[in-house]
Amino acid sequence: MATALDAVGRPATDAPTDLSAAELRRRLDARELSAAEVTEAYLARIAALDPDLRCYITVMADVARAQAAAADDRIARGEAGPLTGIPVALKDNLCTTDADTTAASNILRGFRSPYDATVVTRLRGGGAVFLGKANTDEFAMGSSTENSAFFTTRNPWHTGRVPGGSSGGPAAAVAAGEAALGLGSDTGGSIRQPAGFCGVVGLKPTYGRVSRYGLLAFASSLDQIGPFARTVADAALLLGAIAGQDPMDATSAPEPVPDFAAALAGDADLRGVRIGVAAEYDVDGMEAGVKAAVDAAVGRLADLGAEIVPVRLPHTKYALATYYITAPAEASANLSRYDGVKYGLSVESETLRETYERTRGEGFGAEVKRRIMLGTYALSSGYYDAYYVKAQKVRTLIKRDFDQAFARVDAIVAPTSPTVAFPIGARTDDPYQMYLSDVFTIPANMAGIPGLAVPCGFADGLPVSLQILGKPFDEATILRLGHAYEQSEGWTDRRPDLP
Ligand code: GLN
Repeated sequence: MATALDAVGRPATDAPTDLSAAELRRRLDARELSAAEVTEAYLARIAALDPDLRCYITVMADVARAQAAAADDRIARGEAGPLTGIPVALKDNLCTTDADTTAASNILRGFRSPYDATVVTRLRGGGAVFLGKANTDEFAMGSSTENSAFFTTRNPWHTGRVPGGSSGGPAAAVAAGEAALGLGSDTGGSIRQPAGFCGVVGLKPTYGRVSRYGLLAFASSLDQIGPFARTVADAALLLGAIAGQDPMDATSAPEPVPDFAAALAGDADLRGVRIGVAAEYDVDGMEAGVKAAVDAAVGRLADLGAEIVPVRLPHTKYALATYYITAPAEASANLSRYDGVKYGLSVESETLRETYERTRGEGFGAEVKRRIMLGTYALSSGYYDAYYVKAQKVRTLIKRDFDQAFARVDAIVAPTSPTVAFPIGARTDDPYQMYLSDVFTIPANMAGIPGLAVPCGFADGLPVSLQILGKPFDEATILRLGHAYEQSEGWTDRRPDLP
């Protein structure tokens, strides 16, 4: 049922850097390709493209080559797992013992973690290949990677545009063929929004589905780690590898982890599935091209047999405001650990107090300081009830809206972002405009529910993304819907026109 594609980008080829992780798995197991060959192809593409796109803060070429050699041995022994020999980009807020972890901040420049994040441990154990640490807004605060203390990543579809953020590095790497898969973190949209801007698949799992141990904390009640991929099936594969309870993270959930990849098997018949559409996700400022592509995607889901049901989410309009109380409040507490004493930058001075002040003054960028000040204010005595406690109450109302909607539907669809990727520099002078780019993604974080971003066409030559929200711990359903949609359209077979 493939439809005519806009003349945007180029069709995927047979090059290893164009193939899905599932197809790489098949070819690795059939010995049509070796992990060493796949890794060299990716490293060569990084060497050719990254001086311009700047997806990576650190390229882990030596680590990747050693992991690829080990993966080839493992494949030869017949002991390969789903990700053995598959090249992955890691957002640079995930701790690794064999490469620096900076969160794109001067305060952590050159910092080497003494331990791996749990997701990193799991991928290592599964034989994945780490290509490098990918760019992000400083401490994951932002929507464009322009808050990185090091450099801005460029959007592979249009190098004058942002890749989105904060996980713009891994999103752009997967889109550009500089990684087969990526891991990011999503506190208010930082996986889904850059996935949307870069035309790839991104998934924020249910809060608690994936261990946060070894993720540099931004807002601990909202942060979740999740996959970037070029297909929904690949995202399912990566989620399966990282999901599950972890004794090192008390908020990781004991819920059993289903076989997400198996949930995609079978045909694309969506009869019997009820999909909610909420008028609250139709806001002023939404671009016409985005609305048209998302409306067409909803129509396609109906063609596949799904029943489209109007739902109401009346408190969703408060999500952005309550997020900008809750997230900075938690961030101000989490970032107090960067004090010039324990680790990272230390600007030693006469007194301890001066050391704190100068280290933090020089080490943090403007947006991080803005968040720390907002958060400290919201938590200060006299204002705590008026801001922080009130935001928590509204958060409960937002969650309740979703509970009520999900009593009637299996999933809710919405745009991922109100606009396509905006020009570099367009929003840097206006934090509020920057914050608005997450208006559709933040509600899922406030409610703790999973959200999947799937490419759904192009507007003005740039990717548009459909967001599919699910019930808590029901990633399987949104993956199934995303996969059915993707199979019926073929947007994910397009690649940006890069050399
Ligand atoms: N853009 C949002 C923020 O700046 C979300 C970031 C994120 O999800 N890490 O807070």
